[in-house]
Amino acid sequence: MRKKIVAGNWKMNKTYAEGLALAEEVGKLAKEELNSDVQLVVCTPFIHLADTAKIVADFKNIACGAQNCHMKASGAYTGETSVDMLKSIGVEYVILGHSERREYFAETNQQLKEKVDIALSRSIVPIFCCGETLAQREANIHLGFVTEQLTESLFHLDADTIKKVVIAYEPIWAIGTGVTATSAQAQEMHLIIRKHFASKYGQEVADDISILYGGSAKPSNAKELFACPDVDGGLIGGASLVARDFIDIAKSF
Ligand code: PEP
Repeated sequence: MRKKIVAGNWKMNKTYAEGLALAEEVGKLAKEELNSDVQLVVCTPFIHLADTAKIVADFKNIACGAQNCHMKASGAYTGETSVDMLKSIGVEYVILGHSERREYFAETNQQLKEKVDIALSRSIVPIFCCGETLAQREANIHLGFVTEQLTESLFHLDADTIKKVVIAYEPIWAIGTGVTATSAQAQEMHLIIRKHFASKYGQEVADDISILYGGSAKPSNAKELFACPDVDGGLIGGASLVARDFIDIAKSF
């Protein structure tokens, strides 16, 4: 059975003190109000990670995630962070291939393949992001574009390993714009993604993969999105910066 997951991507927001206060509040609200088996993940900036991991360790079903990692194990890569460093402080997830990293840091499908491999080799779960631009959707090449991202970065994995990866479908035109994909648009793409995995690994494996939706998700639209049969949760940007909103989204299942 695939997991229901709501992951917050804080991006480059919150000072150290603000971040720890947010993590505490998320934990407190989750403990008081969340009685489902939804897995929460808070993906913080690097400097918050070690202490956030300690905070969330006190709560059931909350894990800590990074927003990136380097593809090499160690060495002369100034400014970078390795998976062993992340593992050593209790990080369990890492967002890979977010469209902002692809756009501003020129991350390629090939580099992401290496990052996926090194994260998995340390048992850190990749939350692998894919998604199209508005121009690609308008040109009707969005389905092919997204499936190609998955093929190039993930299809070298074997069937047991692919089940460990979480997918986040994030249409770029919906990220941080206030424009959400309709539930029909989200379900259409999520089903295509699942069928794409089924074509390579078989339906049983594809049915085990959690596919999250990301792009201006908020408490007011999460219920409808999460009601789609192939939407297994969300990757939440802006709304994850407010504990109340993040928990209300998680309560939308
Ligand atoms: C994101 O950046 O992963 C995201 C989904 O952002 P937002 O929710 O703000 O659109």
